[in-house]
Amino acid sequence: MSRTASLLNDCFLHDKDRLRHNEVLDLLKERLTTVVGTEKCLLEETLGRFLSTPVVAPRNVPLHDNSAVDGYAFSHKDYQLSRTLRAGPVIAAGDLEHYAIDDKEAARIFTGAVIPDGADTVAMQEDCTVTDDQIAVPPGLKTGANLRKAGEDIKSGDIVTRPGKRLRPQEIASLASLGLSEIPVYRRIRVAIISTGNELLEAGGQTSIETGQVFDSNSAMLLALCASLPVTVSRLGIVPDVASAVEDTIARAAATHDVILTTGGASRGDEDHVVATIDRLGKRHAWQIAIKPGRPMTFGQIGDCVFMGLPGNPVAAFVCFLLYCRPALTILGGGEYLEPTRFPVTAGFTIDRKKPDRREFLRGWLTAGDSGPVAMKFERDGSGLISGLRAANGLIELDEETSSVTIGQTVSYIPFSEFGL
Ligand code: AMP
Ligand code: MG
Repeated sequence: MSRTASLLNDCFLHDKDRLRHNEVLDLLKERLTTVVGTEKCLLEETLGRFLSTPVVAPRNVPLHDNSAVDGYAFSHKDYQLSRTLRAGPVIAAGDLEHYAIDDKEAARIFTGAVIPDGADTVAMQEDCTVTDDQIAVPPGLKTGANLRKAGEDIKSGDIVTRPGKRLRPQEIASLASLGLSEIPVYRRIRVAIISTGNELLEAGGQTSIETGQVFDSNSAMLLALCASLPVTVSRLGIVPDVASAVEDTIARAAATHDVILTTGGASRGDEDHVVATIDRLGKRHAWQIAIKPGRPMTFGQIGDCVFMGLPGNPVAAFVCFLLYCRPALTILGGGEYLEPTRFPVTAGFTIDRKKPDRREFLRGWLTAGDSGPVAMKFERDGSGLISGLRAANGLIELDEETSSVTIGQTVSYIPFSEFGL
């Protein structure tokens, strides 16, 4: 196979034959669907969950016309005849009594209190002059001034949130304002995290480490990356680079999880058993993507379990998780996949030569320039440098056609917040 050669030694070869970033995303969107059922969840536990059924507003918010300020409520018609009105009832927020004003009367009213019958406008107390039982209201108020209409936030019958919507504090506030307490959401998908590599040592609790060993940072990183998604994670630990051990662990995980995430062992080396394992146990849909970092990224399935094999290098694993696992976990979990927004910004760095036909994701951040934000990149490129991830606030994306970058050129920047981080 001519392809094999380019996989083994790519120093001078292009990434032309590998799947491109967009092709991989299309593949994921095409092949993946929601795999979980639904459940009712207490409102206060819905942060980050995906709504499963449209929520229809059972009532108006606010329920009643009410005052937006502390002041005086009156009829605009009376006000047009005379700006001096008689003191009427006093109405506070939470007052459940029904009030009405007489002709030429102004009610003393407080923020949030129900507008009395007969009133349609409110003047702020600071702008009014009160003498005995007369209130002088300032000129120039329009009908409806300082008044909040019933249903102006949410109308009864409105669809408040749609299925697939990730529930943020804003949505939770809206649902609470409607008085809802049990919310229909998709169940959490079950995700297994496995690190592969003979060199790996469990992080935490270890007092010594030998030359040649590496603490497993990927498991902790993936666990943390999963935290913003509605998933239940099993950490299955470290598996050595032994074909039977990789196969046993993956087969066991596949039986009880919706998704398996592995790191390491996804390349073509003699000690890399992940790809061969997927071929044996299930079906591989894609392997190797024309991106940097993260080329040896594998997708497949074992029965109904989706398999995603991330590269071992922490930076590559991080980037691939954001680019591919996060969308996949979102779609499988019933969420709506939203393409991260790219912001055109000015490059504050140079790259003399970038390989064609592959997309690169640099670790970067923005600084304020004279004419808008300027993207800076972490100076070193190594995909083992977690410090680059730490320095970064986002990814600078150089597409397949880009062959160099000069200072001042427009580049595309994706803040980490676009990935829920
Ligand atoms: P691999 O993809 O297995 O060839 O690993 C590539 C590089 O990433 C090697 O330097 C590994 O030591 C390193 N690596 C692999 N897995 C992990 C992990 N779980 N934590 C930290 N580094 C890792
Ligand atoms: Mg390895």
